[in-house]
Amino acid sequence: MVGPTAVGTGQHMRWWGWGQPHEVAFPRKLEALLTGSFGLDGTIRQPVGLGEVSLPQITLEPRARQRLEEIVGPGSVRSDTATRVAHGAGKSYLDLVRMRAGTPQGAPDAVVFAATHEEILAVLAVCAQERVAVVPFGGGTSIVGGVAPLRGEQHAVIALDLARLSGLLTVDPASLTVSVAAGTRAPALEAFLAEHNLTLGHYPDSFEFASIGGCAATRSVGQASSGYGRIDQAVQGVRVATPRGELAAAALPASAAGPALRELIVGSEGVFGVITGLLLRVRARPAQQRYEGVVFEDFHAAVETLRHVVQDRATPDIVRLSDEVQTTVLMAGGEGGGRRAPLGRVLLRGRRGVLVIIGWEGQRDAVERRRLHTMTLLARGGANPIGEGAGRAWAASRFAAPYVRDQLLDRGVLVDQFETATSWSGIGSLRTSVAGAIAAALGARGTPALVGCQISHVYLTGASLTFTVLARAQLGEEEAQWQAAKHAASAAIVAAGATISHHHGIGRDHADWAAAELGPLGSSAVAALKAHLDPVGIMNPGKVIAAG
Ligand SMILES: Cc1cc2nc3c(=O)[nH]c(=O)nc-3n(C[C@H](O)[C@H](O)[C@H](O)COP(=O)(O)OP(=O)(O)OC[C@H]3O[C@@H](n4cnc5c(N)ncnc54)[C@H](O)[C@@H]3O)c2cc1C
Repeated sequence: MVGPTAVGTGQHMRWWGWGQPHEVAFPRKLEALLTGSFGLDGTIRQPVGLGEVSLPQITLEPRARQRLEEIVGPGSVRSDTATRVAHGAGKSYLDLVRMRAGTPQGAPDAVVFAATHEEILAVLAVCAQERVAVVPFGGGTSIVGGVAPLRGEQHAVIALDLARLSGLLTVDPASLTVSVAAGTRAPALEAFLAEHNLTLGHYPDSFEFASIGGCAATRSVGQASSGYGRIDQAVQGVRVATPRGELAAAALPASAAGPALRELIVGSEGVFGVITGLLLRVRARPAQQRYEGVVFEDFHAAVETLRHVVQDRATPDIVRLSDEVQTTVLMAGGEGGGRRAPLGRVLLRGRRGVLVIIGWEGQRDAVERRRLHTMTLLARGGANPIGEGAGRAWAASRFAAPYVRDQLLDRGVLVDQFETATSWSGIGSLRTSVAGAIAAALGARGTPALVGCQISHVYLTGASLTFTVLARAQLGEEEAQWQAAKHAASAAIVAAGATISHHHGIGRDHADWAAAELGPLGSSAVAALKAHLDPVGIMNPGKVIAAG
């Protein structure tokens, strides 16, 4: 077993990649596209063995360890290599590059598996007294350095694994709410809700391994968010263990009682404390799910039509509009792979254009009525329907992308995603400037890139843009190469007045850019709140709040 990162779910993550070896076959068309574009040499590079991973010396004092063991039990404080490695990084491109090379940026001195709110309160109190930094660890799927084992001013660092803090507490079918322990994995929650004919409807691409607490802590967004809303809209109440004690935001459908505590906690990424329990708004399980595809001549026409659809209140529950480059990558099997991802086989059939996947979920007559409204407006804007086959293909491969990413890393490909959001009127110029900045930064290093863009979440006033970057990795210089692209993209996003993150969060990687977004007074207000709740500075140092 590779570290109990998924206790209670029956699923474990590979320490150097995603999930477990999987039936996703590498899409040959994608290989041909990338070989043609970047001149890949066909070599398959394997990660180093677990024993070759270099880990820092353990600096946790024996007394601190003993006190932690007294709280959670000796078997629940672990410092073996497999457990430290499995908690040493998240799942960003660079996290995986470093892990595969056996050179992670660090590792926790110990991993503590706490099972209750009370245990976590006690762990935080001991860590504050013993000056040990605490990194809350949900599913560990962060791609912005959120679970990086940074110790800040403390002399040691633990990962606080929340997989044992798992379970469904109560369902209130009349109020459509469920109370859930924060370490519960998203699939376990959905399986439980299905028994009650309910759904949360929250399906991030990382669904298979993300925890519900991690989703709330990062303001995560699922594939059907245009219909079901963001996780922050689903959180009604929240319970937090902080180094100063319990903080709770009452579970109310609405309130005018001053600044909303709930809003400060949701999205706080573990820098104030550990979310231990949540009351979530759920919905009736849909009787019908209908997904299909349409094709537009170009990105601009598709965006304009989508805007009309949204502003005419005809928004589908799922919207995924790919630009020309992204459509080419998807056609080659880039969203999924092999048998589970026949997208490339069913789409477009030689036609040019951009692909939009749309979907509706709900009662049968409501789905038909809503679909008619959407499709009428899409047709008016020039959409060509390509049918449900495209929707089924998308649904079959909707969680396959990170498995394909591992295979791309095997083949020496840089593959990463950035996401942002802006108003409808700013989408065209933002896409051009960000894609141009990434292409220029990588081009200057002699590695031309494919930069695709996808709108995957829509709002009345704007939409999110996710950029997918593919290039030949500069082996041995992956970090400098990626930093060049990431810096160029972030600078273009900030210059355009767009947000540095629509759904992946701030973590370590975006902290400086987020400070620019908050402004000096906004940043110092957040820092002051942290200093109040976490006076010693043990909670997730180096994340969210920029140093200095
Ligand atoms: C392949 C891939 C696809 C992804 N797709 C999406 C997507 O579609 N939408 C999306 O929103 N995100 C996506 N993500 C990002 C990530 O999966 C999400 O942000 C998710 O919400 C993180 O959940 P987690 O349980 O893995 O959190 P973790 O990675 O464990 O933690 C994330 C951050 O929150 C903190 N944290 C975790 N649990 C708690 C808690 N209970 N209390 C306080 N702090 C806590 C951690 O310390 C860390 O800073 C993707 C990631 C990957 C690797």
